[in-house]
Amino acid sequence: MLFEDLNLIEPILKALQAEGYTNPTPIQEQSIPTILTKRDLLGCAQTGTGKTAAFAIPMLQLLNNEHQNVKGPRPIKALVLTPTRELAIQIEESFKAYGKNLSLRHLVIFGGVGQKAQTDALHRGVDILIATPGRLLDLMNQGFINLKDVEIFVLDEADRMLDMGFIHDVKKTIAKLPSKRQTLFFSATMPAEIQKLADTILTNPLKVEVTPVSSTAEKIEQSIYYVDKNDKKNLLLHILKDKSIATALVFTRTKHGADRIVKDLIKVGVKAEAIHGNKSQNARQRALTNFKAKITRILVATDIAARGIDVDELTHVINYELPNVPETYVHRIGRTGRAGNSGISFSFCDGEEKEFLDDIEKLIAIKIPVQEDHPYAMSWQSLMSGAAAAKAKGKAKPARGGRPERTEHKPNLSGARKPAGGGNGGNRRFSGSRPKAKTD
Ligand code: AMP
Repeated sequence: MLFEDLNLIEPILKALQAEGYTNPTPIQEQSIPTILTKRDLLGCAQTGTGKTAAFAIPMLQLLNNEHQNVKGPRPIKALVLTPTRELAIQIEESFKAYGKNLSLRHLVIFGGVGQKAQTDALHRGVDILIATPGRLLDLMNQGFINLKDVEIFVLDEADRMLDMGFIHDVKKTIAKLPSKRQTLFFSATMPAEIQKLADTILTNPLKVEVTPVSSTAEKIEQSIYYVDKNDKKNLLLHILKDKSIATALVFTRTKHGADRIVKDLIKVGVKAEAIHGNKSQNARQRALTNFKAKITRILVATDIAARGIDVDELTHVINYELPNVPETYVHRIGRTGRAGNSGISFSFCDGEEKEFLDDIEKLIAIKIPVQEDHPYAMSWQSLMSGAAAAKAKGKAKPARGGRPERTEHKPNLSGARKPAGGGNGGNRRFSGSRPKAKTD
């Protein structure tokens, strides 16, 4: 199928052409025609599937068709709520790219930066507002934002909202929306609380499911390096001697760990920057821009900061430490292999992390090949004795070596994430196989 087959208006088709898009991804194929009929949508999809364009393109078309040549004040007609600043910025960039031949105005607002530029833009009038929950509520409470004219509401990454403790803010926002509206609801997983929310706010939605999290992993070339914790730094430097690795995203569990790796890399002349919650918004954005421009070769990120990082042609992800939540592994390696490209991931695993690796392999149902051909290879025996020692000390679970990065909001206490080890703890993932979208 081609974008031409989706009844899109010429200015949008031209913009998509300029982006180099020819074929819609499965979620776009399913969602665009439905959204254009103003029906609600429940999309089970994560980033990397093309879900942003799946909602942005038809929204632009609907809003353009209905509000052409309207003079006078411009109330907010569409609201996209997303959990992180990086995702919000990325979504606005998408609206900008696909809507560049239209006269709709969009604005992105998020916390951690001054509000003046945002409130000035709101005064001038905005058609499509992309926001993170905290700053949105803040500006609503100050009287800068009124949602009474919203016709289309998008809730993006609903499960992540729950994880990050934003769900009450989300519900408060929904309470301020007109009840007559179109709602597009996206979530990678469907924990019970998210399912309940979807049931309450959606009317007869079309259900679309693409690429369940566990199968994203199939198209990425993965390998495991068994290595002692103290040798990880040297192993990273060894791997980076390979000049064919033009850029790589390196994951750590802690902010402190990310900073340490950057220091180590800079010391040996490798250009590296860190991106995590302690960095100012400007510093994060700068690091991301440098990385996208390939000025920085290595971007070291924590999981929360990395949500939404969307770097075209990112080929390598390196897990310096394995995450203790197996789905996080899939989200991490999913930074490569975007929109059908291939990707490579290297994961370092010490004895204490062996248990995390077992959980990951259970989730993705793949035995990740072990790379033994490196100077810091750890014998199976040392690995297993490290694993046994960690188990005996109760060290392997939960995460060790410092607190993983948290957001400024309270953590999720609902137990909604799928617990390690295969039980589904109240989580319901849509079933079905990839990449065919399922409709109701
Ligand atoms: P998303 O899942 O929205 O984060 O999108 C993932 C990446 O795929 C982004 O870099 C998009 O620019 C890109 N993308 C989205 N739709 C298409 C398409 N139909 N063809 C090619 N690339 C796309």
